[in-house]
Amino acid sequence: MARINENFKKLKEGYLFPEIHRRSVHFQKENPEVELIKLGIGDTTRPLSPAVVRKMHETADEMADEHTYKGYGAEQGLQELREALTAHYKDYGVNLDPDEIFISDGAKSDLANIQSIFSGDAVVAVQDPVYPAYVDSTVISGRSGSSTDNGYEGIIYMDCTEANGFFPALPDKKADIIYLCSPNNPTGAVATHDQLKSFVDYARQNKSVIIFDAAYAGFISDPGLPRSIYEVEGAKECAVEINSFSKLAGFTGVRLGWTIVPDSLRVEGSANGEVRAMWNRRQTTMFNGASTLAQLAGLAVFSESGKKETKELIDYYMKNAGIIKEGLSALGIEASGGENAPYIWAKTPGGMDSWKFFDKLMNEAHVVVTPGVGFGKNGEGHFRLSAFGKREDIQQAMDNIRNNLKI
Ligand code: PLP
Repeated sequence: MARINENFKKLKEGYLFPEIHRRSVHFQKENPEVELIKLGIGDTTRPLSPAVVRKMHETADEMADEHTYKGYGAEQGLQELREALTAHYKDYGVNLDPDEIFISDGAKSDLANIQSIFSGDAVVAVQDPVYPAYVDSTVISGRSGSSTDNGYEGIIYMDCTEANGFFPALPDKKADIIYLCSPNNPTGAVATHDQLKSFVDYARQNKSVIIFDAAYAGFISDPGLPRSIYEVEGAKECAVEINSFSKLAGFTGVRLGWTIVPDSLRVEGSANGEVRAMWNRRQTTMFNGASTLAQLAGLAVFSESGKKETKELIDYYMKNAGIIKEGLSALGIEASGGENAPYIWAKTPGGMDSWKFFDKLMNEAHVVVTPGVGFGKNGEGHFRLSAFGKREDIQQAMDNIRNNLKI
């Protein structure tokens, strides 16, 4: 008899984005003449860069010709792309072997799938507020108890608040799998070298593994901030790093990412190379490689013109972030993030609750943001703005807020 995976029943309804959608649709029905400006969802809006588009056209032509047509590639990804990534990491002083890099179809699936190579009783720790995929995949994998008002039993929530600069203290209980995200979604906080070092030291002492989500690393321009956890000594022994072309190069619709499992990564009871070999086994069994078209487009991101154009793309979004921050600050709304990160994390005026402020902002300024509480209990009293919008929308949103929000 087939039965469903009961863990799915523990999952709380996907509440945040469906609820934002429900409220926006309701508002739009009542006010059809109003154009809502959406600064909530973190999807990119700029087109792919010319170098990427050229390569995609070229590849499509090759695929259309029987002499140059390509079928399956290696499950681990194109060797040239893995080599380009090792060169990219060398720029930060990180030496990797191409065999330690696994090309994926984006970060989200690997952030969830990586759990399958660790034991089922591993205790998972996440930051609060948190990118929801880490939590939901933990629940589905059976590593949590039931949902409560304060999150799921069995998951360690590491508080990220204004008081600690939105970077957590070390877990007060033993955590086996620790998700860290820097630059952070949703807070926009970027971990310093010392902050990451404290977690690397903890992980080595406790034989834990850090799953480091660096999906926004491309937005770091401050040379003093680490763009990879492997910039920290000892991290290769205890950390997996997961990254993406989604925000780096506008590939949200193209789908491409990469995961690094260093050969020297060891967990309780594993030999050198064993964790990497297990991920390789997992991928060769359950994944047939990222699309060739996407991978060659990804390779173009690292060409000379690709690098220049990618920087322009990032500069565009970071200028948006600056406009948002300046606008909020002029209104006396406290905000952090938005520097070296494309998210701005703002405090609701007068300590209003997140959803109440969401409604107020939508009703008065016609701007849709993401209520902070949707990312966890520490998000209450906050809201997240994304810098990924079009410049004219960002400007219009800030004008609307300045002129119409009653605070
Ligand atoms: N990690 C974080 C923190 C994100 O915010 C996102 C997307 O918004 C992802 C991962 C997913 O990236 P991808 O598009 O590569 O699946």
